[in-house]
Amino acid sequence: MNYQHLLDQQKEYFNSNVTRDLNWRIQQLKQVKQLVIDNEEALLKALKTDLQKPEQEAWTTELSYITGDVDHVLKHLKKWAKPRKVKTSLVAMPGKSFIQPEPLGSVLIMGAWNYPLQLVFAPLVAVIAAGNCAVIKPSDLAPAVSAIIAKLVPKYLDNSAFAVVEGAIPETTALLELPFDHIMYTGNGAVARIVMAAAAKHLTPVTLELGGKSPVYLDKSANINIAAQRLAWGKWMNAGQTCIAPDYLLTSEELVEPLVNALIKQVNEMFSQDPSTSNSYGRIVNQRHTERLSTYLDSGEVVFGGKFDIENKFFQPTIVVNPALDSKLMSEEIFGPIFPIITVDNYPAAKELVINREKPLAAYIFSKDKNQQNDWVNTISSGSQCVNDVIMFNAVPDLPFGGTGPSGMGQYSGKSGFDNFSHLKSVLKRPFFKDLPVRFAPYTDLKFKL
Ligand code: NAD
Repeated sequence: MNYQHLLDQQKEYFNSNVTRDLNWRIQQLKQVKQLVIDNEEALLKALKTDLQKPEQEAWTTELSYITGDVDHVLKHLKKWAKPRKVKTSLVAMPGKSFIQPEPLGSVLIMGAWNYPLQLVFAPLVAVIAAGNCAVIKPSDLAPAVSAIIAKLVPKYLDNSAFAVVEGAIPETTALLELPFDHIMYTGNGAVARIVMAAAAKHLTPVTLELGGKSPVYLDKSANINIAAQRLAWGKWMNAGQTCIAPDYLLTSEELVEPLVNALIKQVNEMFSQDPSTSNSYGRIVNQRHTERLSTYLDSGEVVFGGKFDIENKFFQPTIVVNPALDSKLMSEEIFGPIFPIITVDNYPAAKELVINREKPLAAYIFSKDKNQQNDWVNTISSGSQCVNDVIMFNAVPDLPFGGTGPSGMGQYSGKSGFDNFSHLKSVLKRPFFKDLPVRFAPYTDLKFKL
């Protein structure tokens, strides 16, 4: 298995400067949008096959996410790609200084299975905007979506600049041996280490979009019903398999009962009393992950849900109260529909618990207390945050998306994606005016004192 020819072909094309042309980039971006529009039905079907994604959910979180992303980029691309003037320092005068964004070359995009379209095409939009070529490796755990990506990309995009390689570990390992100009990986931290080690051999820069345990803190000033609705949506969308889903919730003892009741009410309203029959509730990606989730159930008191069906990859929305902090449920990223609620004495105790754990991809607070909100934002380190909501920062294209520490490195979305896949080249342009002699040898005391 050797993909060197793909990279060679892309490098040759890149060196012909075609991809630097803004008109080419705009045309390719429009083609990404067209691909989604023309194949809406087939894409929704593939998402249903792999994850039983409800159509409306798949539409908002995958298809229209991509087309919206293209629209946003098209609106701003000319401005982002322009040289960015900076002030020239006195010693470099007369002269003009600017930052010239330039494309990197060929980017390897490795997608994950939970949003298998979005996590390939949103990076691709940024990669194209910045003027790069790409080899796309969709997740093998979403095979129907992988197959349709492999079928449609060559139909819609410039084949000299873009290629899709389907497959699992052997294919990915072969791809990782090549000297790409950038690697964009979305997935878990263990594989991220493999990716980074492979990249190190060629000094290839990486963007790693990883996960973690994203906490929520809720205090008594919060509007419990509104919080519960937003939390239920964020936790149980895609059956909990969202990297920025709330992983666990911290609150005081007296709020547990009203919160649990409000969450149950929301689950019943969103997915009915029997979510296994609901068209709005997804499935776990495979039996192995369904089984993994089932092993979390003995970590604490299951106060709601807890039913699962490994064969049919169904896992009920579930709430567990006060699991041990060193249990599996509270040590590993859940990535499924189990919501642990843990009681804490107060806000400082919640904060301490969060700070003493690995930096998460997202951190959420529900509170009307402005001081507490500000303290959370100012002192909790995480990829992104929402105050009084979950996930919705991802609907703001001008907010960069990415992790920090173990939750990832590098950011994309809007301009941050354009910058992420560009080299921001510094340029100083000077005229042929005579320079002050002080700059040049021989160095004398007199020159030094000047
Ligand atoms: P996955 O199994 O789809 O793996 C991701 C990619 O890595 C795939 O393309 C896969 O083929 C490849 N891969 C898997 N094992 C490999 C190996 N040994 N060597 C080389 N390549 C290999 O996805 P996953 O890792 O199960 O995804 C879930 C994780 O991803 C969670 O931790 C979640 O939080 C995180 N995630 C992060 C984001 C984000 O944007 N930050 C988005 C979605 C998911």
